[in-house]
Amino acid sequence: MCGIVGYIGIREAAPIIVEGLKRLEYRGYDSFGIATLNSTLVTMKKCGRISENEHCAVDLEGKVGIGHTRWATHGKPDDLNAHPHTDCTGSIAVVHNGIIENYAELRRELRERGHAFSSETDTEVIAHLIEEHYAGDLFDAVREAITHLEGSYAVLAMAQDDPRIIAARNASPLVIGIGDGELLAASDVTPLLDHTRKVVFLEDGDIATISPEQIIIWNGNGPVERSVSMIEWDVESAKKGGFEHFMIKEIFEQPDVFFHTASSLKDGAVIDAMRECGSMILVSCGTSYHAALIFRYLAEKYCSIPVRVELASEFKYYTPPLQGMVIGVTQSGETADTIAALKKARQFNCTTLGITNVLDSSVTRIADHTIYTRAGPEISVAATKSFIAQLAVFLQIINLLQDNQCEEVMAMVHRQIEDSLLIDLQGAVDACGRADHVFFVGRGPYYPVALEGALKMKEISYIHAEGYAAGELKHGPFALLSEKTPVIALCLPGESYGVMLSNIKEMKARGAPIIGIGIEGDRELEEIVDIMVGLPKCHLFGGILMSSVVLQLLAYHTARMLGRDIDKPRNLAKSVTVE
Ligand code: GLU
Repeated sequence: MCGIVGYIGIREAAPIIVEGLKRLEYRGYDSFGIATLNSTLVTMKKCGRISENEHCAVDLEGKVGIGHTRWATHGKPDDLNAHPHTDCTGSIAVVHNGIIENYAELRRELRERGHAFSSETDTEVIAHLIEEHYAGDLFDAVREAITHLEGSYAVLAMAQDDPRIIAARNASPLVIGIGDGELLAASDVTPLLDHTRKVVFLEDGDIATISPEQIIIWNGNGPVERSVSMIEWDVESAKKGGFEHFMIKEIFEQPDVFFHTASSLKDGAVIDAMRECGSMILVSCGTSYHAALIFRYLAEKYCSIPVRVELASEFKYYTPPLQGMVIGVTQSGETADTIAALKKARQFNCTTLGITNVLDSSVTRIADHTIYTRAGPEISVAATKSFIAQLAVFLQIINLLQDNQCEEVMAMVHRQIEDSLLIDLQGAVDACGRADHVFFVGRGPYYPVALEGALKMKEISYIHAEGYAAGELKHGPFALLSEKTPVIALCLPGESYGVMLSNIKEMKARGAPIIGIGIEGDRELEEIVDIMVGLPKCHLFGGILMSSVVLQLLAYHTARMLGRDIDKPRNLAKSVTVE
């Protein structure tokens, strides 16, 4: 899940690569490295973050180079395992995103043929394979080398005696940016935005020869044409714009993101396919899974469509038959498990739909239909605006399937998201910040809202947080309740309101401090909770959106109070391209 950047052109490569890698750190940040070619190929690599070690790259000269920011899969994060990896002679360098599944066998064979390895990574086999096939033409050598690889890769390769960069892709993203007298390659478009809007997305099996003036792409036995796309995302959206962290900036973008995403989805072929499908299966991971669970409650309630929601990572173990429409929900469009699930669905002739935030990402090529969320680049590792954008898609789908019956609510609900940004959470933040364990509970669609609230809290504050269906706590977790375990209880008007009040009383009776999230002025709730977080009166859609935003802010401010590394929490990375 690392990030890679390549540059070839008229300017010094290293500073451009450093800036590009900084934009990609959300994909991995345990170590980094750069190789440039001047008269010789020079490599620098190091454990730690490029953003804190920029000075390490100042001596690298040359107008062509490749760089990498890593999220280790094979071999611990240290200087030796950092990319680029080189061959035995040090004259071929590669950076790689993905996993080479047959690396152990290849490594054994290469060792037997005399190659010396200097890292524990799977990646290093690529450098040695290129070395074996190199006879003066790097493109030919890469083309031969990758025929031995099984697994996923986006690779950039350079050689001492070849002035080009060779790129190859299979199941890991790679995009080429076309500038004026220069070309760039990167894992996503964010490092390219400072330099160009013209991009070419490589496809699986593509091998590209990149020189300053042109890019030639091969697939199979011959050259192929790939269309040039224009990127609309602006440079500022990939920068912090005065906010302390990307996460809080992205939370504040949510009213606009909701509005733009919902209004861009119109009735048409995808909605018609949903009307015809009879049932739906949603597959996703992490935050996207929680958005899908919310959709299930609403689609069944409002549209009477049976909806199943499955974790993409478990989907491969379920025994078919599969029927209806299968929908993969993935912010990056590259989530390996979600893509595998959609491939399985295709084998059973199910209609497939991808919901993603990233133009031309892998999911869009696999699915029959695509719906784009309009969140713009999400840099913070913890997903926020991409979640609200997914909810915008889901709520708009429900509206369209009901022939616009929720049109009025949809037109004003983004303003309620705006209102929820201003709610005072200090009491709740103090209570969570003191705790080692926090429970989040809700019923109906507020149950997945609680799951998402707990996920946000654990991933950025490192406080152990559990999301639970409120009715389930008495079946075991009650044993953990005490005055040291705050419970965040979502108690908004609706069919579960009365029974939620009873559940809150039961939890309070076990000593747990209760932080109630409800409607302001709700006396009954205010009387039984210790801390009340009051939302303005709202429709169910508004309640779901506002309480989701409030829980994002609660996690953010708690993590900030505890001095956590909010945008880059430990051990995590965005865009999970490995299974
Ligand atoms: N498998 C490679 C490594 O461990 C690349 C990691 C990645 O793409 O996340 O270094």
